[in-house]
Amino acid sequence: MPACGPRTDQAGRGVHQVHGDRRGDDARDRSSNARVHLRGDGGTDRRGPPAGVHVATHAHGAKGIKAAVEAGVDTVEHGTFMDEEAIEMLITEDVTLVPTLSAPYRIARNVEQATKESLRKSGPVYEHHIESFKQAVEAGVRIAGGTDAGTPFNYHGTNSTEISFMVEHGMDPIDAITAMTGTAAETIGLEDAGTLEAGSYADLLVIEGDPLEDVSLLREPTAVMKGGEVVAGAIPDLERDR
Ligand SMILES: [Zn+2]
Repeated sequence: MPACGPRTDQAGRGVHQVHGDRRGDDARDRSSNARVHLRGDGGTDRRGPPAGVHVATHAHGAKGIKAAVEAGVDTVEHGTFMDEEAIEMLITEDVTLVPTLSAPYRIARNVEQATKESLRKSGPVYEHHIESFKQAVEAGVRIAGGTDAGTPFNYHGTNSTEISFMVEHGMDPIDAITAMTGTAAETIGLEDAGTLEAGSYADLLVIEGDPLEDVSLLREPTAVMKGGEVVAGAIPDLERDR
């Protein structure tokens, strides 16, 4: 997979590094040497992050995922090659999966421009990734929406497409929308956001039609509100239709 690992420059802002053994994170997961250490303050390895620090790990192989979960991460991004045990551990340890189905899809779709390195990593991975996702959905893993924007051909602002992918591969539309909104906000610690209710921060899309019947409607909102203000499009005149 393309590089999308932890950024050491964010460590000082409450983002923690995850050190994974690359062999254990190999796509085919042949190694038995997966190790993950969460580095506490002061650089000493210790089990588990300090309280209140969110730890994410971008992981593909089952062994790397299990090692990360055992080490106490909050989220697993990708989860490409999960087995039953890894899925079970996500549930029992209350770890959220961010499947990022967009990342391999974007590379697979841009075959002509993709680098050989990107293709080598992403081509055969895609089908396994989808299979892992389906199994996680079926097992009831908590899922938050994320696109892994920043990987090749994968740009910011395509969250609705990720929702479509999640629905296409086994999630109920309402669950996929919730994953990308309420659960995503909760996962990154945003309070009063991502839900449509009084007191919640008013970022929302106005859709003509029922996205639960066709989630692709989310790609073409009639209006976009941010902080309670319309920043794009216009709210339809509901009075007109009465
Ligand atoms: Zn990643």
